[in-house]
Amino acid sequence: MLLLPMATLALAQQHAHTHGLLALDVAIDAQTLTLTTEAPLDNFLGFERAPRTDAERKSVAAMVQRLNAADKLFVVDPKAECRLSSVTLESEVLGLGAADKPADAKPAAKGPEAHAAHAAHADIDIAIVFNCAKAPLARQIDVRLFDAFPHLRTIAAQVASDQGQFKRSLNKSAPMLRWGR
Ligand SMILES: [Zn+2]
Repeated sequence: MLLLPMATLALAQQHAHTHGLLALDVAIDAQTLTLTTEAPLDNFLGFERAPRTDAERKSVAAMVQRLNAADKLFVVDPKAECRLSSVTLESEVLGLGAADKPADAKPAAKGPEAHAAHAAHADIDIAIVFNCAKAPLARQIDVRLFDAFPHLRTIAAQVASDQGQFKRSLNKSAPMLRWGR
């Protein structure tokens, strides 16, 4: 299912970690529309470590609940007739997803420069798959992440479809992702 151009794009984006910025890849195949990102956890929580208080645990639970309802956050062009198929969340510090370590596990290897204050950066990997009757007809996604997650400022989106490849920058006042003709 991975196309070579997507792999190339993923390589170009994979090391970005800028608070407020989310690099979003959108891949459209015949019957699927897939959204993937590896983004700073800060964009979604305002912190990047295991929760320490009840309030922080509630924030994590609310984030997971919101992201799992991805069809409310990404409203795909109705022409494509898409239905949310799966949401995969992975974050080691939160103990989410494939990580087999508990949420409070310490990093395996700590370099001498990894002082507590600077070891705090962490990402969340998100993969959202829509099954679509007419995926290639999709020309837009109404992205509602900015209202749900106020720490998020900018989305750098890359769309790969049979219409070509498109780069778009989204923000709270311009949240509609559009491409193609
Ligand atoms: Zn960070």
